Amino acid sequence: MTSTTSRATSADLADRARLTIPGGANSNVRLAAPRVFFERGKGAWLWDVDGNDYVDYLLGQGPNFLGHAHDRVVAAVAKASTSGMVFGAQHRLEVEAAERIVAALGWADMVRLGMTGTEAVQAALRLARAVTGRRRFVRFEGHYHGWLDNVLVNPGTDTVASAGQMASYLADSVVVPWNDAAALEAALAEHAEALAAVIMEPIMINSGSTEPADGYLPRVRELCTRYGVVLIFDEVISGFRVALGGAAQRYGVAPDLATYGKAMAGGWPVAALAGRAELMERFGTGEVNHSGTFNGSVMAAAAVVATLDVLTEDPPYERITRHGTALMAGLADLGRRHGVPLRVQGLPMAFHASFGPPDPVTDYRGLRTLDLDRYAAFSHALADHGVWVAGRGIWYVSAAHGEPELTAALERADRALTGHAAG
Ligand code: PMP
Repeated sequence: MTSTTSRATSADLADRARLTIPGGANSNVRLAAPRVFFERGKGAWLWDVDGNDYVDYLLGQGPNFLGHAHDRVVAAVAKASTSGMVFGAQHRLEVEAAERIVAALGWADMVRLGMTGTEAVQAALRLARAVTGRRRFVRFEGHYHGWLDNVLVNPGTDTVASAGQMASYLADSVVVPWNDAAALEAALAEHAEALAAVIMEPIMINSGSTEPADGYLPRVRELCTRYGVVLIFDEVISGFRVALGGAAQRYGVAPDLATYGKAMAGGWPVAALAGRAELMERFGTGEVNHSGTFNGSVMAAAAVVATLDVLTEDPPYERITRHGTALMAGLADLGRRHGVPLRVQGLPMAFHASFGPPDPVTDYRGLRTLDLDRYAAFSHALADHGVWVAGRGIWYVSAAHGEPELTAALERADRALTGHAAG
């Protein structure tokens, strides 16, 4: 059946999707999610084709930081696109987007736009190699930098995570536990001659939403400078989310290069690589290649400009912090009342919930004690009761989440836990 009627249920659409889309999903990250098809999203809410509503704490894996379909972003993208979408040449909005990004970040001089965080990471690594003439890089246990061969690993191991992935590319990196300055110093001392870069999530949001220990980032900065290694912050999640200037602003530490995406463009697919002019200019001379048909498209640039204008004119950070903090406390309380080991930790804008030992996890190895299957089942129970979250524990909070959403989310989570605890 190829009807496009909006009356098709999620179950109908899932059956159809499986015939023409492998696994019925366009990203492997979504294969384990409940088979719900959405009709619409607005603000902090989603509506599926079956008539159910959801408080959304997935935010499309983070991009909808202003809430779904923010009026100013939608209007800016729509208006800009009526005059053409891609030119294979420059246009005014690109300049405005770059100027706003550089102003928001504070530490960076220049920026290149791309489409995905995965690409921005690869551009950063290539540039670091070009500048240093070295090949290898340091990455950290539990950090995620996209789905390509040289950075994708099975969680909890350092092995390839996909059939067809070339294990030899992983050998280009030296893997170190994060938040351990002595371990990084030892790795740099041993491999400095071969190391182009150190790449990290400056807050380990992908694994436990874990903050850097006091003094850790300044020490990392110092070590990279001392060994002449390019420091790359992967701020694809933290950028524009934990502060307008991301983790670099929050902790007062400037990297040499940083990657951005998600929160930067109100849901539009845009990523960026920002950095010091001395490095970034290597793209401008043509010496280092960074290309892409859709880089800096009219819609992407318009979305960045509108989003950064909203974030600057009406900063949502305090509001989001209040909401996230109350939600974390409410969930922890529900866990206690239901007698389940539901643990909540991390930053309120993107916190982490899990089942496991009650103490917060401060390093990646600690996360191995978590009951991931139990949490995945809970995330499905939440979906059944109208709360949409990631299956791996991150809860994203947007500028559109307010009191009604908090009340609804906690009531629904209460009901989900009732079934979950009984089950
Ligand atoms: N870096 C980090 C820190 C990420 O969290 C992600 C995606 N969640 C990426 C890179 C890859 O970004 P994308 O999915 O846009 O390719």
